[in-house]
Amino acid sequence: MTAPVQAVIFDLDGTLVDSDRALVEAFVRCGIPAEAVTFGHVITDECARLGIALHDYIAAYDARDVQPFAGVDDALRKVERWAVASHKDRDMGRAELNAFGWSPEVAYFAQDFDGAKRLDVVLDVLGLGGDDVVFVGDTAHDRFAARDAGVRFVAAGWNARCDIRDGDLVAWRPEDVLEYLGR
Ligand SMILES: [Mg+2]
Repeated sequence: MTAPVQAVIFDLDGTLVDSDRALVEAFVRCGIPAEAVTFGHVITDECARLGIALHDYIAAYDARDVQPFAGVDDALRKVERWAVASHKDRDMGRAELNAFGWSPEVAYFAQDFDGAKRLDVVLDVLGLGGDDVVFVGDTAHDRFAARDAGVRFVAAGWNARCDIRDGDLVAWRPEDVLEYLGR
């Protein structure tokens, strides 16, 4: 393994929290059959595909349907410097962080990115370079974002639906992420 990193950047949905049920339930409340809902997309794209206005989806979303993955809370409490880079709506994302008592150093959401998720802007706020962090995520979008910013991608292997490709670094349990911090 290379030099320990200074901080960990995490995606939120499908990485720190299991929000599949919340996503499906919100669409069901909007009149979409559960079996029509698919995962791993930017939410604006999935709303467009299903013909639902984003604000209707957000209004129907209930954060009480969201739970952290097992072991995530314990692992986060052992990471000194961490950040969130998520394409979730900002108010929804912040409400979840508050609900779980999580205080990342930086939390960037959809409104903070000009389009796709970008890690360079998060690195700027952290005052760190690409080699100083790893990005833990669960989708191809996350892998692209890491590559664009020169950051090592770590797949959140504890999520059974995580997109894992040949050559990926994989953390099978949340506590495995601590190994990148040199502990
Ligand atoms: Mg995700």
